[in-house]
Amino acid sequence: MTTAGPRRAPRAERLRLAVERDGARCVWCGRAFGPLVPPTRDHLVPRVKGGPSWLENEVPACRRCNAERGHRGVVEWLEECGRRGWDPDAGAVERALDALEEAIAERGGQRRARAYVASQQRRLRR
Ligand SMILES: [Zn+2]
Repeated sequence: MTTAGPRRAPRAERLRLAVERDGARCVWCGRAFGPLVPPTRDHLVPRVKGGPSWLENEVPACRRCNAERGHRGVVEWLEECGRRGWDPDAGAVERALDALEEAIAERGGQRRARAYVASQQRRLRR
């Protein structure tokens, strides 16, 4: 069994992998990344809510969205993006939540993050 993997990759590498997985645009506002819109890692489950620094908990977002979302829940922020007339990539967000759910099931622990993920998935599927 290998213990090395994407989740142990350094931050810059996780950011690269997240962009590769979800596309070179902000998952929230849809702006393409470039010199004026650099990508950042946004935690689906915020760190203060127990979210781990794993690739599965990170989606590529522009600085503005990352900062403005703050600790707001995934679904609440998706709704806010819609109100602002943006076109968030809800599919990428849902896939990331599912991958995070699987990663937690496999690795164990993360009780707070697990509850958070489950509540967001329920709201997304309503
Ligand atoms: Zn954005």
